[in-house]
Amino acid sequence: MYDKMLRERELKVTPQRIFILEEIRKMGHAGIEDLHDKVKEVYSSVSLATIYKNIHILVEENILREVPVHGRKSVYEINIGDHVHMCCTKCGEITDIMNIDTRPMILEAERQSGQPYERIAVMLQGVCSKCRNN
Ligand SMILES: [Zn+2]
Ligand SMILES: [Zn+2]
Repeated sequence: MYDKMLRERELKVTPQRIFILEEIRKMGHAGIEDLHDKVKEVYSSVSLATIYKNIHILVEENILREVPVHGRKSVYEINIGDHVHMCCTKCGEITDIMNIDTRPMILEAERQSGQPYERIAVMLQGVCSKCRNN
């Protein structure tokens, strides 16, 4: 599935790239360093710089999206379109909230500023259910 995605964008399909994408999908939202640790388990000689470079290309090609996290390094996710994020203020876990329509916010912002917007990134903060039950 990811090899087709890469080929369509005329990117080289390397086992490492496929592995990176698979890992990010599994992790949901992955920090570069955590990702590096995972990739190293299989490709022991891979450098952090290589991971950075690959992530950068995949973001440019819209296969991945960067999710900026307040006060921390960005995490990356497979681009599944606009959705809202929730970041736990205790454990830092990032969760997707898929069923919130963010268009009204964009429309209201456009109405107020008179200029168009392409996308919106919403990050909610709170305590996740795991931390609340501990
Ligand atoms: Zn938590
Ligand atoms: Zn997400």
